[in-house]
This record gives sequence, C-alpha cells and structure tokens, in this order.
Amino acid sequence: MPAPSGSRTPETLSPGGRVHVVGAGPVGLLLTALLQSMEGLSVRLYEKRHEYTRTRMVQLSPYLVADTVETYRTDAIDGDSVEAIFDPPEIGEGIAFRQSIPSDLMTLLRGWGLGFCPLNSIERELSDLIDRRTSTTVERTAAVVSAEDAMAMLEPGDVLIDCTGSRSLLRDRLVPGAGEDDGANTLKIRLEYALVITFLYGEQYDCNEFCKYHKNIENATYKFIPMVHRTHYDGRISHVSGIVNISAEDYEAMPGRFDGEWLRGNFPDVAQSMDRFIDKVKEETHGEIVGDLEIVRIPLDLYRARNVTSRRWRAAGQSDHPFASSPVFLAGDSAIGSPYFQSISLGFECAMYLAGLIAQRDLPLGEMLDRYELHIYKQWLRVYMRSKMIKHNKDLFETLDDPMALLERLHIY
Ligand SMILES: Cc1cc2nc3c(=O)[nH]c(=O)nc-3n(C[C@H](O)[C@H](O)[C@H](O)COP(=O)(O)OP(=O)(O)OC[C@H]3O[C@@H](n4cnc5c(N)ncnc54)[C@H](O)[C@@H]3O)c2cc1C
Repeated sequence: MPAPSGSRTPETLSPGGRVHVVGAGPVGLLLTALLQSMEGLSVRLYEKRHEYTRTRMVQLSPYLVADTVETYRTDAIDGDSVEAIFDPPEIGEGIAFRQSIPSDLMTLLRGWGLGFCPLNSIERELSDLIDRRTSTTVERTAAVVSAEDAMAMLEPGDVLIDCTGSRSLLRDRLVPGAGEDDGANTLKIRLEYALVITFLYGEQYDCNEFCKYHKNIENATYKFIPMVHRTHYDGRISHVSGIVNISAEDYEAMPGRFDGEWLRGNFPDVAQSMDRFIDKVKEETHGEIVGDLEIVRIPLDLYRARNVTSRRWRAAGQSDHPFASSPVFLAGDSAIGSPYFQSISLGFECAMYLAGLIAQRDLPLGEMLDRYELHIYKQWLRVYMRSKMIKHNKDLFETLDDPMALLERLHIY
C-alpha cells in the first residue's frame, strides 16, 4: 500500500480556487460537471480534440447510481470483494455524495446505466450540459497541453487534475527525481492480446451465458466471447461486441484497426470462428449483418499509477516546484486502466470520489491527497481481482472442449 504523506501542513483548498481539468474525455467531463456545480470554484477545462468521434458502444455499471450500500455491493462477479475491501461507512459516504449530485447530471448517469450507448454520446451529452449551465461557466481551452504548460499555469493553491487517459500527461511527473518517460510511476500487467470485434445485426439478438458456449462449439482455437447480457437492441438493430483472444505474434502481424474482409484474407482461422458464431445467430433469428465487422486489436493491460497525487512533491519539501504547492490528481485512465469493458465506470467512480473530497473545503490538503491515494488503491484492488477472475473464467471457457487442458488450469492449492 502507498505510504502516507509526510506533510503536516494544515492547508486547505483556497477559497475561490481554480481547478484545471486537463482532458475532456468522459472522466474529465464528468469531473468538470460535478465541480462546476460547487460554489466557490472556478473550473478550467482543456481539450485537444475538436470533436467527439468515438462511436464504440459502452455501458455504465449500476453501482454508479446505487442509492444504498447493498445495491452498491451487488455484482455477480465481485460483490464479495467489494464487501471485503470497502467498509460500509466508506460506501455510505460515496452514496451520500451521489445524492448531492444535481438532478440534470444524475438523470444522464441513470439513463446511461440502463443500456448501451456510444461513447461519443456520453461525451457530447456531458459537454452540452456543461455549456448549458449558465449559472456557473467553465472556461474551456482547445489546445494540446504539455506537462510544462500544465506546470506553468499553476498558481499556488490551484488544483490540477490530469484526465488525459492511458497515455497520461503527468503520471510519470508525480515522482520527484524520476525520468520523464521511464514508467517509474506505472505498474503494468499484460493479461493478453485481443481483438475487440463489433458488428451490427438487423434483428433482435440477446446473448446469454449458454449462447456463448453453443455458438463456439466448433471453434477449437479462436472463440468469440460476446459481452453476455450486454448486446444492445435499439428497436431496429442489435449492437454486438466481444473479444477474441489472439497470440502476441498475431497481434504483431495485424494493423491497429481493420474489417472482416481483411480478417478473412489474412487470418482465415479467426474469421472462420467469427463467421461460425454469426451463422448460428442467423440460424436462430433469421437476420443479416448490417455493414461489415469493425475490428480493433488491443493489448489487454491492467495498470495503475503507483502515486495518483502529488503528495511525494509535498513531502519532498521542494517548495519551488509547482506540484509542491498545488495538489495534482490523476483520474480515469490516467490513474488506473483495466480491460473487459469496465474502465469508464471505474473512472466515473473515482471522479465522484475526488469531487466529494474537493467539496469538503475545510479538509486539510495532506489528508485529501492521502484519502484519494487510499481510495484509488482500494479501487485498484477491486479491479485487479475482478479482471483476474474474468481472465481466469475466460481461460477455462476456452478449454471447455479439452478436459486435460481444462484440468491444467484448475489450480486448487
Ligand atoms: C476498443 C475499446 C473499447 C472499449 N470499450 C469499453 C467499454 O465497453 N466500456 C468501458 O467502460 N470502457 C471501454 N473502453 C475504455 C474506455 O474507452 C476508457 O476507459 C475511457 O475512454 C477513459 O476515459 P478517460 O476520460 O479517462 O480518458 P480518455 O477517454 O482517453 O480521454 C482523455 C481525453 O484527454 C484528451 N487529451 C489527452 N492528452 C491531452 C493533452 N496533452 N492536452 C489536451 N487534451 C488531452 C484526449 O483528447 C481525450 O479527450 C474501451 C476502450 C477501447 C480502446
């Protein structure tokens, strides 16, 4: 567990303080919308993209809008872990904060929790909400912010929140004396390589736990594992997403993004598994694929920043460094990354916790940094165990037709 900060300075956030949020992806936007509605803060939001173009379908976890400790803990995969890691008063504190979220924002969160929606809809809806609220405006800057820019814009007492995603702007700057890109502040575990395959289907199709098995029966090597219970039918079209595990060599030989035609020409075995799966969907529901497959090749990494705040700079006592006098936080993919379609919810959860800390204006800064570090560490434990469990279950699933291979994976003691 990270060591507590050595700072004993009973400083609190300055009244009328400025908060700089760098990165207006889903997490930066949610944080901005949460902070915008807090009295006495002036929020500045920086983003390098000019429009929101990411159309992949995502779903938010129900725990984000939980209103009791019990509903927060309800999860088929890791409900027990949540109970083991978080004490009820901690969960209760998070729920109390959710209840203070303004209704315009809570309505959006509840809506996204009901089903699937494109990532860029979440981004646009948050961005529009921020712009619509005329009572407190957010100063928005369209620019690529460098680490040097970020440091230069800080005045003592400002807060800086890095929401720049997996290639975080400041993650490796949070440790005094560390090299810029040496990864000293990142712990990374590569779980596997995968293709994320998405297709549209012209009939209603719901996938359940049995369907993922039956539709893969003849797929000995490559199995398409759909997001069970998370196919989305919009009244006209079903959106289906899933993962095929590939080797490191396959990964190296593929471009970053491609379609079904490229797959059939270059990796016929993977394509055959995919086509068998789709043929079985068609047999049952008599529909057709709309358009082509959309395929992205990704390494599935679990990672965390070992330090998610600037508390080491404060503890080092180098008062001439901007991070010693202004608290810096990482949020979203900057702080923790996880595969298997759970990252945005985790990022939103951390954003809510951070906003809840910033709302406590009399909280000493050192304590705020320590509490955020501890919370993120607990979220890391949760997502680490959850991801390992998912990976383990996937591994077992992939060897179901081969009892000896299956037994090899069942480590009991
Ligand atoms: C193929 C694929 C499928 C996925 N599917 C799911 C899913 O189903 N469910 C799920 O929960 N998650 C999913 N994820 C992960 C999810 O997209 C991320 O967890 C989420 O986008 C992280 O949000 P974020 O705001 O932390 O970072 P990002 O979305 O990466 O946003 C960072 C923002 O910061 C901006 N930025 C970066 N650097 C700078 C800079 N120097 N100056 C100014 N602006 C900057 C970027 O332009 C961007 O807008 C998927 C990811 C991939 C790749």
